[in-house]
Amino acid sequence: MPESSLIGKRVEVLDKGYIELVDMLPHPDTGISGDLAIVNAARVSFLGESKGEEKDKRLLFYLMRNRHTSPFEMVEFKFRCHAPLVTWWQWVRHRTWNMNAQSGRYTPFEEDDFYVPDIWRLQAVSNKQASEGEVDAQTAAQLTEKLAAHYQQGFQLYQEALAAGVAKEMARLFLPGFSVYYTWVIKTDAHNLLHFLRLRMASDAQYEIRVYAQAIYEHFFKPALPWTAEAFEQYILNAD
Ligand SMILES: Cc1cc2nc3c(=O)[nH]c(=O)nc-3n(C[C@H](O)[C@H](O)[C@H](O)COP(=O)(O)OP(=O)(O)OC[C@H]3O[C@@H](n4cnc5c(N)ncnc54)[C@H](O)[C@@H]3O)c2cc1C
Repeated sequence: MPESSLIGKRVEVLDKGYIELVDMLPHPDTGISGDLAIVNAARVSFLGESKGEEKDKRLLFYLMRNRHTSPFEMVEFKFRCHAPLVTWWQWVRHRTWNMNAQSGRYTPFEEDDFYVPDIWRLQAVSNKQASEGEVDAQTAAQLTEKLAAHYQQGFQLYQEALAAGVAKEMARLFLPGFSVYYTWVIKTDAHNLLHFLRLRMASDAQYEIRVYAQAIYEHFFKPALPWTAEAFEQYILNAD
């Protein structure tokens, strides 16, 4: 897929979420690929640029292998992302992202914009903050039904509070906190994105953030930066 078609591409995640590439640096219209931007930044050390595909790729792999990270900061990704608060709760811990969030004080929440899981995972035995396996089908159906009723009641109370003239910033106290979907515009560079992806694509990351990290990697990072992704898998992801 040509890189230019990545901008504006939206990938669905979870039941109602998505991640969309809004912009990237270098912009595809410049004709300079992300991998080449990294190589060119590294070569400024001796005021040079591309030396052909083979030498360029070898240099990029050298940079990744030896943790020469600053050239990877020359590539940036900006996303629009719709995710439940349980996901954002973890995402905002990554301080190297720039973020702007939808305001629940300004914009009213919409009915049904709450996360409903496909399956109900069981508490893991050995790792106290993880899950493993899933509950049986009958229990799952009951839990999903109860969750829907909980959402409905919360949203109804939210609307009643709004109708009574309560400010949106207070009426939202009635909404089911961790499940409500929020939209953010978020930006980071390739170096810090790889750090995020290494942590959040790992099996010990919570499923609800892991699927966003995997979507970013598979649908945006790999097509935009194929050499960098290859080097990342070789020296970081599979070397841990
Ligand atoms: C599986 C998992 C479980 C977790 N569980 C918990 C938990 O129970 N409780 C909890 O509170 N958090 C938890 N976290 C969050 C974790 O502690 C980190 O806050 C989060 O992963 C962000 O990592 P980071 O600080 O490396 O990333 P970023 O904030 O993106 O920072 C990237 C890098 O920049 C540098 N950096 C950034 N800011 C500073 C600074 N102020 N000073 C020095 N260096 C800096 C560091 O080298 C850092 O690694 C968990 C994370 C994971 C992946």
